[in-house]
Amino acid sequence: MSTIRTRFAPSPTGYLHLGGARTALFAWAFARHHGGQFILRIEDTDVQRSTKEAIQAILDGMAWLGLDYDEGPYYQMQRLDRYKAVLDQMLARDLAYRCYTTPQELEALRTEQMARGEKPRYDGRWRPENMKPGQTPPPGVAPVFRFKNPSQGTVAWDDQVKGRIEIANAELDDLVIVRSDGIPTYNFGVIVDDLDMAITHVIRGDDHVNNTPRQINMIRALGADPPVYGHLPTVLGADGAKLSKRHGAVSVMQYADDGFLPDAMINALARVGWAHGDDEVFSRTQLVEWFDIAHVHPSPARFDLEKLDWVNHEHIKRLSDDALGERLRPFLERAGLDVSGGPSPASVAALLRDRAPTLAKMAAAAHYFYAAPTYVEGKFAEQMTDAVRGALPDLDAAFGAIDWTREAIGAAIKTTAATHGLKASQIMMAVRALVAGTTSTPAIDAVLALVGRERTINRLERGLA
Ligand code: GLU
Repeated sequence: MSTIRTRFAPSPTGYLHLGGARTALFAWAFARHHGGQFILRIEDTDVQRSTKEAIQAILDGMAWLGLDYDEGPYYQMQRLDRYKAVLDQMLARDLAYRCYTTPQELEALRTEQMARGEKPRYDGRWRPENMKPGQTPPPGVAPVFRFKNPSQGTVAWDDQVKGRIEIANAELDDLVIVRSDGIPTYNFGVIVDDLDMAITHVIRGDDHVNNTPRQINMIRALGADPPVYGHLPTVLGADGAKLSKRHGAVSVMQYADDGFLPDAMINALARVGWAHGDDEVFSRTQLVEWFDIAHVHPSPARFDLEKLDWVNHEHIKRLSDDALGERLRPFLERAGLDVSGGPSPASVAALLRDRAPTLAKMAAAAHYFYAAPTYVEGKFAEQMTDAVRGALPDLDAAFGAIDWTREAIGAAIKTTAATHGLKASQIMMAVRALVAGTTSTPAIDAVLALVGRERTINRLERGLA
């Protein structure tokens, strides 16, 4: 069998959002699973709505997700000559024809058909065999080019996700394939490219199911075999409603900024409509090993943001301290923290890894390792009792004298508490409040060991002043 070739063919009219990323991921995973090739094609023929920024956003999103392609990006607007050549062939072989129907005539036709309760469709009035004697092109009207869709029989395919789909050709009209300005329509650009690029499997969103019979008819008319099709279910929000901004229908790069790991994003997106047994957390390599388009469920699938947090945390827990530290570093820097003046991000990550589901949240929780907290008068009144205040100068003195290790710090806290008739936890809470600006930190001896002796003592004194 020939090499499997799939493609992702986004229209650059917006960001790479979750739905698009899921489509790209499944086409990629299918190709990778079969040792095939994955191609990126930018379908930029909607010149009004396509933008450079959107192209860049797509490329950035693919790069961040690690969806590498073997060919491309191809740009349809750079292939206009090729579409023209195929159109000329089709005209010469009587597979396509010029249509001079004006927008007004089409509108009138539509109104009549609707009034008769019919589905609006082009009536084939410029099909050569339908033309009336004396019917000549009106002056000044630039024609569009239409495909002669077969009027008899049916067109069918075995969809890899949805099963067999069959449509009567009578349902389909002669679609426009090239507009009067020479730009191909979506359906025509796709078939020329899918054939030229030797695509074996078209894996795309199920909003294209209606286009598939038309595409198959054109491909067959050109004497070629259509690729295999698999239409992926719509991505819904966790509440089952269509994805909106509220559900995270934003650029996938927003997830990068929010501190999700690309592998966690891949994991979560893969679970939208596909499953491998009960496996919830898996690596990219496992996905490639397991991916089977036959296991994609045809019904609409949900993307759950809360679950993404959980999956991300699971991936965080699987990284080494060093690897996690390297990913945390840019988030600390972005928060304006002086990373080189404080503990290594790996050592901070080691303490916070169990507590923060995202890198952004970890960076926010790491603030006090690199900068003093802002003291809010009276905020920790409950912790700062007179008895505790009375004990802190002794603790300060003890801190000045010990080896700055976790064990010695812990021992100094216990001894000072005992001397003053306090529980160690009472001192610990006050120290947390003064050093970290929060009473919720990992084990305080470990925290202080990283914050450093000088900064600890400074903050204790400043907080008490
Ligand atoms: N350009 C189309 C879109 O962004 C996808 C085309 C296809 O995959 O066939 O929806």
